[in-house]
Amino acid sequence: MGQGQARPAGALGIRRIVAAPLYGESPKGGWSTEIKPGDSIQTLIAVHTEGGITGHGSAFAPGPLVAAALALLEPLLIGESATEPERIAEKLHQNTFWFGRGGTVTHAISGIDIALWDILGQVTGLSVGRLMGGRHRERVMPYCSLLMEEPGAMAAAILRYREQGFRAFKIGWGPFGRRDDHRLDEAIVADARAALPPGGRLFVDAGASDAYWPNGLKWALRTADMLAAHDVGWFEEAVRPDALEDFVELRRQARLPIAGGEVLTRRQAFLPFLSRGAFDIVQPDATKVGGLSEQRRIAWTAQDFGVRYVGHGWNTALGLAADLQLATALPGVDLVEYIGGSAYVDGIVAAPFRLDGDGTLAIPDTPGLGVALDPDAVARFSPAAAALFDPEAAV
Ligand SMILES: [Mg+2]
Repeated sequence: MGQGQARPAGALGIRRIVAAPLYGESPKGGWSTEIKPGDSIQTLIAVHTEGGITGHGSAFAPGPLVAAALALLEPLLIGESATEPERIAEKLHQNTFWFGRGGTVTHAISGIDIALWDILGQVTGLSVGRLMGGRHRERVMPYCSLLMEEPGAMAAAILRYREQGFRAFKIGWGPFGRRDDHRLDEAIVADARAALPPGGRLFVDAGASDAYWPNGLKWALRTADMLAAHDVGWFEEAVRPDALEDFVELRRQARLPIAGGEVLTRRQAFLPFLSRGAFDIVQPDATKVGGLSEQRRIAWTAQDFGVRYVGHGWNTALGLAADLQLATALPGVDLVEYIGGSAYVDGIVAAPFRLDGDGTLAIPDTPGLGVALDPDAVARFSPAAAALFDPEAAV
């Protein structure tokens, strides 16, 4: 039997794959062409098996694009073994060389891969973190990600989330770097810093993957000096995402760590950035790069290059759940991203994420991803919600 062919898998064979786009409360992205609440940006995925076990995952992509990707991928999946995530994900990558290699097809594979790890965990009775090698830690600190606001409003936003127990913050996008006004950029950062206790952790994300980002390396170097003076922990997406040489030069000269990589997909795309020394911190997104299978390989490679890994799967509760499992399966991971105030993170799970008094989250150690969706809650945001749980349900 050839290595790409499906093997008889019986009850653990893949029966159906469902895409359930989330609508209605899509958070703003700070993009120059802003996301509207009714836009579909995130899509939940279910993989149903013949025997009744279902795994869930998440893909960063609009519902109609994921549905089109599934039409391409389903012939490679139906009847396949649902308990071999790494082999199946590789089969999908290998067979979508011409139409995949990044973009929506790879993002859809990500959601499927996460769901397959969830299934493997349920079948074996192990959490995904254990399946991926073990548990380096029981808890991890989420940093609260907020869009930049005008000075005054920025501090108020941070204080609101400090009251919820967050101890670390990232501010980004919005007006920062977009008004040709260094004084405004610094005033926003100073306002945020003043809202934190002494030693509070603050990170800054320019968001240079935005459409028509107006700045170049010189802006990034000057801004890096300003951020270092305000004790900012890292400077993220400071230059355009394809500007490899600018990243290398910025990292060489900047006095604070340089972060990036959230737009890259597939392990191969990270290699030039890691081998050339573009980042101090790499931020692959498990809902884009090809899922947990690919994310783990990128993170290990990064660590071998001396680059810190911080996951970026923050867009839904399932993306966060995937990040939490990798945060325990890898050495040296002390943070996960947590979008502040998103219904797709806080409002779709049976047991909401809870911060401890020290601002950390427990990493689930129950089988699979360790996070259960609430069917009624998901139904508020997706007309296809029922089919995430019932393989017979229509979408
Ligand atoms: Mg970012």
